Amino acid sequence: MHIHVFGADEPTCARLDTTEEQIRDVVTRVIGRSGSDLVVLIYFVQGAGWDAEYRHGWVRASDVHRGTVPGLPPRFLLIRVALGENAYPYESIDDYGWTWRHATVLDHLAAVVAHELYHHTQPHFARRRMNNEADANRFAVQHARRLGFDVQAIAPAA
Ligand SMILES: [Zn+2]
Repeated sequence: MHIHVFGADEPTCARLDTTEEQIRDVVTRVIGRSGSDLVVLIYFVQGAGWDAEYRHGWVRASDVHRGTVPGLPPRFLLIRVALGENAYPYESIDDYGWTWRHATVLDHLAAVVAHELYHHTQPHFARRRMNNEADANRFAVQHARRLGFDVQAIAPAA
């Protein structure tokens, strides 16, 4: 697995009380043995909020930042995570109506990476399953908690 972290400069790490090493360690622990063929790009960005995606299908190094990210394999599967200037503990509502609470940025990162990992480990057709996103969220909470991360999530009322 290849991990690249963008924007984890000194002021950002100081504000979030973390280091690039800890960020990489969280990604490595969450992905575990599912990391072959996987590239994880983490972005620390301006503004509030967060975003993440798993790209279904192979990506070439030249498809990402016009081929400027060093060390990428020729082709790979891709998880992208963008984290904004959020204050922790941080509460947010995702695109599917779930309310999330994360104690630290590392807890947040663990949950988001675990959600995308679920998509990565599912067969290709699974993304059209009705409960795909809810299943990904349930997996994310369980997986992150099992690894010791402080993550809470409340599903929307049915
Ligand atoms: Zn998802």
